[in-house]
Amino acid sequence: MKRSEFGKAVRQAKLCVEEETLWGETDVHAACSVGTSAKKQPVRTSSGGGEPATLDELKAKMRGCVKCRLGKSRLNLVFGTGDPKAGLMFVGEGPGFDEDHRGEPFVGRAGQLLTKIIESIGLTREKVYIANIVKCHPMIDPSDPEKRGNDRPPAPDEAEACLPFLEKQIELINPKIICTLGNSAAKWLLGMELGITKIRGKFYEYKNTMLMPTYHPAALLRNPSLKKDVWEDMKKIRSELKDRA
Ligand code: SF4
Repeated sequence: MKRSEFGKAVRQAKLCVEEETLWGETDVHAACSVGTSAKKQPVRTSSGGGEPATLDELKAKMRGCVKCRLGKSRLNLVFGTGDPKAGLMFVGEGPGFDEDHRGEPFVGRAGQLLTKIIESIGLTREKVYIANIVKCHPMIDPSDPEKRGNDRPPAPDEAEACLPFLEKQIELINPKIICTLGNSAAKWLLGMELGITKIRGKFYEYKNTMLMPTYHPAALLRNPSLKKDVWEDMKKIRSELKDRA
């Protein structure tokens, strides 16, 4: 078996295990045997009737999601992390290599910088909530999740497919302020086509919640001169959080 075929078989087995965990063995589709070419039945992404009332319920509903193509190549669904009742929520673009491997958002170099940014306003990762527009790793070459430098921004249809999950996540967390990181997150939540340079540093309204777009930490790694702008944006967020405490 070729390496790429082996990787595909492992990922298929992983999806099947996720579904078995959620639905129980008798309810799992019959095409889970590794290496078969049998067609899968549609994967249910709902654990039953009714809207999820907690983040855990939402996460359970999303297990095994293949609503868009990213679900077929991901290693882990990267749901989000932090305080489920956080006053401040960060929203990035999508998981990369490190996040896909760890199942946690912002854990690579950009994530380490985000941690410092959060700490610069007196908070910690545990006190905020961190999520992304898409929950699965968008790859240039989806046949090889083990390849570094294989990240790409989510395609519009992928972002559209995943957006309802983020919207529900925001509704459940009900933060006082959302801070979007980079172009994609601001674009998908605010519906604005203007670039991040033009829109950052100001508060906007997202469904009655204040939203501040700023640069993605990965942009700061490429261009450290942007750090001062992010610091200015963070000071505005800190001041607004104080006023609303
Ligand atoms: S990116 Fe979102 S919609 Fe697409 S498969 Fe993953 S969880 Fe489902």
